[in-house]
Amino acid sequence: MIGAVDIGGTKIAVGLVDDDGHVLCRTECPTDAESGYAEALVRIEHMLRTKAAASGVELTGIGIGSTGPVDPFTGEFGDVNFFPAWRGQNPVADLARIFSVQVAMENDADAAALAEAAWGAGKDKQRLIYVTVGTGIGAGVVLDGRLYRGVDGAHPEIGHHVIDASGPLCMCGFHGCWESMAAGPAMVSWLESKMPQDYPHRENLTAKRICELAREGDGLAREAADREARYLGLGLANLVTLFAPDAIVLGGSVMKSAPLFLEEIRKTICQCCRFVPYEKTDLTLASLGEDANLIGAARVWHHRFAQEGGHCA
Ligand SMILES: [Zn+2]
Repeated sequence: MIGAVDIGGTKIAVGLVDDDGHVLCRTECPTDAESGYAEALVRIEHMLRTKAAASGVELTGIGIGSTGPVDPFTGEFGDVNFFPAWRGQNPVADLARIFSVQVAMENDADAAALAEAAWGAGKDKQRLIYVTVGTGIGAGVVLDGRLYRGVDGAHPEIGHHVIDASGPLCMCGFHGCWESMAAGPAMVSWLESKMPQDYPHRENLTAKRICELAREGDGLAREAADREARYLGLGLANLVTLFAPDAIVLGGSVMKSAPLFLEEIRKTICQCCRFVPYEKTDLTLASLGEDANLIGAARVWHHRFAQEGGHCA
């Protein structure tokens, strides 16, 4: 039984996940980064111990998926924008010491990619790219069941490939990255820049709300959804051209509204990807649902220690 820890900007979720990727139980608490890393570590330990005791199981290992950047080999947090003061802290070493089990950590998009590849929509796909579209755009590449890593173990930042160099400023410092064009907040910014003074839905706009309005037939929201579909399609078409993968699995909160976007995405891929057999790339929705990140965290452990026979993968 693997203890799974999903560390996000707003919440930390903990659960027990069996060897088939089923979540037996879960719990969560606010990340509350301001209270400090040591205090968060105490909460994670408490949640893991409570859940293991209530289920009458012993943890055989712990897997962590975290908002990044994180170093999968040293186990340290990098310069994470949600908790900059935690930089250099090492939950892998700390949880290994506390629980006397092997612990592994990956970026949360990589973790979810591993889970979809092993237990979800990407099962049996040799070349899989998982893309999550929410407040940002993250992605993980899994080749033959193994996570693709860049130089020095780097996580490729697919959300920051440039779609339109004259586009809006991205948090990375450049303009027109895919994330700045097509993540949820980009939909909101675009609609807010276009809405007239008397637009009736000015308050509390979110990507989710815009998608609801688009489904209800609101003209401006439909334009925002069409624009979203176009930019999602351009980024995905780039991935198809660059990788010619067997499958692209789409997850994240914005993808809950995928029916609004899929037709245009497919059309864009068809227009853009003529030099690769794009029609053979499955474009599919993530299948692990709300617990994808937690299941992914558990899969991180299997990927590192079980599947790889103990070798650092
Ligand atoms: Zn960027």
